[in-house]
Amino acid sequence: MRLLSLTLGSYDQALGIKSISHVTAGGGVMQKRQTKIIATLGPASDAPAVLREMFAAGVDVCRINMSHGKPEDQLERTRRVREAAAQVGKEVAILVDLQGPKIRLETFSNDRIELASGDSFILDASPDPELGNQQRCGVTYKGLAADVTAGDLLLLDDGLITMQVREVQGDQIHCVVENGGTLSSRKGINLKGGGLSIPGLAERDKEDILRAAEMEADYVAVSFPRNAEDMRKARRLLDEAGSSARLIAKIERTEAIENLAEIIESSHAALVARGDLGVEIGDAELPFLQKKIIRDALHQNRVAITATQMMQSMIDHPIPTRAEVLDVANAVIDGSDAVMLSAETAVGKHPVEVVKAMVRVCLGAERHLEAHRENQQLNVRFHRIDQAIASAAMFLAGHVRVDAIVALTESGSTAQWLSRVRTPAPIYALSPDPSSRRRMALYRGVCPIAHLPVGKKMDKVLKNAIAMLLDQGLLVPGDRVLLTMGDRLSNQGGTNTMRLIQVSEAGFAENQIDLDLG
Ligand code: PGA
Ligand code: MN
Repeated sequence: MRLLSLTLGSYDQALGIKSISHVTAGGGVMQKRQTKIIATLGPASDAPAVLREMFAAGVDVCRINMSHGKPEDQLERTRRVREAAAQVGKEVAILVDLQGPKIRLETFSNDRIELASGDSFILDASPDPELGNQQRCGVTYKGLAADVTAGDLLLLDDGLITMQVREVQGDQIHCVVENGGTLSSRKGINLKGGGLSIPGLAERDKEDILRAAEMEADYVAVSFPRNAEDMRKARRLLDEAGSSARLIAKIERTEAIENLAEIIESSHAALVARGDLGVEIGDAELPFLQKKIIRDALHQNRVAITATQMMQSMIDHPIPTRAEVLDVANAVIDGSDAVMLSAETAVGKHPVEVVKAMVRVCLGAERHLEAHRENQQLNVRFHRIDQAIASAAMFLAGHVRVDAIVALTESGSTAQWLSRVRTPAPIYALSPDPSSRRRMALYRGVCPIAHLPVGKKMDKVLKNAIAMLLDQGLLVPGDRVLLTMGDRLSNQGGTNTMRLIQVSEAGFAENQIDLDLG
C-alpha cells in the first residue's frame, strides 16, 4: 500500500523542498506551487543525478526536442526520465516535440560565413544544391521559391539576419542582405508575415510520431500547424501508431493565429511558441498574443503553455535578469498552466539552478494572485457530465471555504476540467492509472497521486482515500474538502457526483458542516 501512496508531495517533503506544502487546519494552504514546469532535455541534463535533482527541484514535464539529436539518443533519454522519475517517486510526463516543417539552410562548405548589409545572397531551392558559400546556400524547403516574391522579407537564425527578396529566377531566390552577421549551416528561415504553403506535418514528423509511440510519450507537440486539419492528421497518425498521447499545438506561424479557435479546439493544449511566432509576426504583437492564446485556450477548457527564452540568460549565468523574472511571473498571472525551459536546461550551464529560479518566481507570483475567477464560465452548455460536475464543484469552491479538492478520476479528465478554473485550493487527483497521472502533471494546481480504489463500497473507498491523504500530511483534521467521483468506480469519464465534507480524526463528516464558520 505504501507504494501506491507515493506522491509528488511526499517526495518533495522528504527532501525538504518548500514549494510543496501542507494544508493547514481551517486555513488554507501553506504554499504549494500551482504552475507546472517543463524542461527540455539535452546534453546538460543527461546525467541521471542531474535529472533527479531537476525533478526534486520541481520539473513536472520533460520535453524531448526532435529537432536535435539522434533518434537512438532520444529513446535513451526517455528511458532515463522514466527511471529517474521512478527512483524519486514522482509523476513526470514526457512531451515529444516534433520538428515540424521548419525551413532551414542546407550546409555551408566552411560551416559559416560573414554577411554584411548590402551583400547579395542567393537562397537556392533547387532539389540538389551545391554546398553553401559566400554567395549562395541551399534551403530545405523546395517550394520556397514559389512562395516568395520581390519585396518579401526573410528572417534567418531567429531574425538575427534579415534579407529582402530582390527577384526570383526559377529555384533561385536573389536577396539583398539588410542586417548582416554570422550565418552558419542549418539555421532556420522564416518569412515575415507568414504565408508559406508548406504543410503542417513534415515527412520526418511521420517517422517521429512512430518513435513517440515507441517512447510512450504522454504528450506530442505539433510544430507550425496551420489549421485544425494539421492537428487531426497528427491525431490520426498517433492513433494508427497505437499512441494515446495528447496533442499540443505550438502556435508559431501567422496562419495559426488566423485559425486559432479551431486549432485549440482540435488540441489538448496550446503552446505560445514565442520564438518563431515573434519572428514571423513581429515582437511588438507578442505580448498581446500570449495573453490571447492563453485566454482562448482556457475558455475552451484546454491547457495553456508559455515557452521560449523565459530564463535565457541563465544558459550562462547563475541568476535570471529582472526582465526574465517579470516575464515568468507575468506568464503565471496570464494564467499559464505551465512555463517552459528550452536551451536553459538542454545545453545551459545551470540546469538545476534555473529550475529552482523558476519555482521561486512562480511561487512569488502565485502568492499574490487573488483567486482568479475570470474564466468561471457562466454561459456554457456542458456536453459531458464530468465536465458539468467539475464546473459545479469549482463554482462551489469559489463560494465557500474549501481547503482542498479531491478528485477520484480514472482518465484524469475531471482533473483537467477542475483545473481550468483558477483557485488557490490544491486539487489532489487520485488515479490508479500511471499514464493518466503523468498526463495530469501538466495541469495547473493538480497534484497527481497513485490510488487504487479497493472494494466496491463508495464510503469505504472515500474513507481510505482521505486516510491516505491525512497520512501523507496533505490533509489535516478540520479541513473542508470537495470530493468529486463517479458512483461506479473504475469508469472512465464517469464522474457524476460531488460531496462537500469535513475531515476529522475518525474520517469525515458531511452533515454537520457549518458553512457560516469560515
Ligand atoms: P522551438 O519552438 O523551440 O521548437 O523552435 C518554440 C518556439 O518557436 O518558441
Ligand atoms: Mn519554434
